[in-house]
Amino acid sequence: MSTEASYVIPPPPRPTLAVVGSSRLFPVRRVWCVGRNYVEHIREMGQDERAPPFFFAKPADALAPDGSTIPYPPLTQDMHFEVELVVALKGGGRAIEPGRAVDLVYGYAVGIDLTRRDLQIAAREIKRPWEIGKAFDASAPCGALRPAAEIGHPTKGRIELRRNGTVCQDGDLEQMIWRVPEVIAQLSTQVELAPGDVIFTGTPSGVGPTVAGDELLGQIEGVGVLRVTIGPRATP
Ligand code: MN
Repeated sequence: MSTEASYVIPPPPRPTLAVVGSSRLFPVRRVWCVGRNYVEHIREMGQDERAPPFFFAKPADALAPDGSTIPYPPLTQDMHFEVELVVALKGGGRAIEPGRAVDLVYGYAVGIDLTRRDLQIAAREIKRPWEIGKAFDASAPCGALRPAAEIGHPTKGRIELRRNGTVCQDGDLEQMIWRVPEVIAQLSTQVELAPGDVIFTGTPSGVGPTVAGDELLGQIEGVGVLRVTIGPRATP
C-alpha cells in the first residue's frame, strides 16, 4: 500500500508539466534529450555533421515551469541556452515503428536545455559523462504542454530564442535531422519508453551564454512560448 507509512522518509514530489487549458497535470517519468539534431548547431559546435544524433538524460526534477527564476548554477562560468521542441508521451513500448510513433504523443511544449558548456566540453574532452554539464538543478525549463489532440503534430514552424529581446536562435522544426517519429523510434530501440516520458528534441544554431538578470523567451510556432529569468548564483 502506497501510503506515507510505506516509506522511511517522506516520498519526494512527482515532477509534472502543466497543460494549457487544463487544471490537470502531466506526470513525468523520465526526461531524455537529443544531442546534435540540427546541422547548423553541429557546425557551430565544431562536431562531425555526418555522425547521427544521440541521447542523454536529465533528472525529471530538473524541469522548471514557465515563469521560473532559475538560479545561475554553481561551478560554471559559461551557461548556455538551447531552445528545443519538447515531446511528452502518453504511451510507450520497445522498438516502436516510426509510423505509429506520433500516436504515443500526448502533447508538445517549448523547452530550454540549459547547459554548463564549459563543464560539458571539459567532460567530453576527457571522455567523462555529461551529467555535470547537462543534468544540474533546474536545467530543463519547460512550458505548458499543448495537447496533440488540439494542435496536431508540428513538423515545421519557427523555433526561436530571444535573450533580453534579441533573437539569438532562429530555426525551423523542418531542420531536425531526426524528426519526432524517428526520435521516438530510435530511443525505443535503446530503452523501453512509457507514459510520462518527455523528450527534448535538440536545438537549432545560435546557442550562447546567459547570465544573471537575463530574460529568456523561447517560442515555437504553433506550440507556444516559455519565459524564464536567470537569477543570481545560489549561495550555499
Ligand atoms: Mn540540447
